[in-house]
Amino acid sequence: MQNVSDFMNKTDDIELKHSFQDACANSDFKKYVYNLNVSEDILIKYTSRLEEAFTECKNCAMCKGLDTCKNAVPGYAYTPTAKEKIIDFSYVICKYQEEQDKKTAYQKNLELLEMPKDIKNASFKDMYKDDKARVPIVKYFKEFIDNYDNDEKPKGIYLNGSFGSGKTYLVAALFNELAKKGVRSVLIYYPEFLRSLKASFQTNYDEQFNYIKKVPLLLFDDIGAENCSNWSRDEVLGPILQYRMENHLPTFFTSNLTLEELENSLAITSSGVDKVKARRIIERIKQLTNSLELISKNRRN
Ligand code: ADP
Ligand code: MG
Repeated sequence: MQNVSDFMNKTDDIELKHSFQDACANSDFKKYVYNLNVSEDILIKYTSRLEEAFTECKNCAMCKGLDTCKNAVPGYAYTPTAKEKIIDFSYVICKYQEEQDKKTAYQKNLELLEMPKDIKNASFKDMYKDDKARVPIVKYFKEFIDNYDNDEKPKGIYLNGSFGSGKTYLVAALFNELAKKGVRSVLIYYPEFLRSLKASFQTNYDEQFNYIKKVPLLLFDDIGAENCSNWSRDEVLGPILQYRMENHLPTFFTSNLTLEELENSLAITSSGVDKVKARRIIERIKQLTNSLELISKNRRN
């Protein structure tokens, strides 16, 4: 006597077969699946997944670019591959996604610490052209790029100026340009970085510290906005700048403060006033950079 589960299995099989036959009423689908060169018994088992893959394949045939991609994972197509008695499905990258990945591969050279992600897309090409205030800075950066391969690396800049004038954007655009030539850089939002460095005391403090010290290009973004302590001034900033000075590693700063104002702010910590130590930091910054100013309207919305 036939048991119930055998009976159920048979019913399932018949249903699967029917849905496969229904799907094959579309001659393009039929051609698509028979091209896999596996027996009909196997195809039948995968009907619904093959239909999905077929839909994605059709989407790709009509597609003009990533913006209009209709697939479940944009830039990829759900694709079957026949393997003896099974069919394997995977997401295969399309030519548009591949092109895009190639274009942005250089961005891995640019590391952001506590910075907004969209700064990775800053570029000279997309820069506002309506502001004369940034002309000298862009000129400095063009020369910086031209001279970067010289034995003696060009100096970074200390860029001070009003809030939202585009200081961070400009330095990020420079780093992006050099990233395309394979130069690695780190952009650090300085106040937040101090907090995360402090939090790493028990874990990878030395590793983080040395990494920042040695990276080919460094930006300390918004220096002077932090709560200065003896530790941040004398154990973090001081040694990093000293090392980078001795090794001619270009270092950039953006700040709302002039160097003079920064000196005053570095002198005062919760432990008291130390003008000599503040002076020493400023001397190092002066050794490492040329000072430029960007006063402009606030671009933040
Ligand atoms: P700052 O660092 O001086 O406070 P930001 O660099 O953060 O200013 O710029 C403020 C905003 O304006 C950001 O959203 C940035 O993306 C945009 N922005 C600034 N300068 C440019 C530029 N030259 N071209 C395009 N967008 C810019
Ligand atoms: Mg900024």
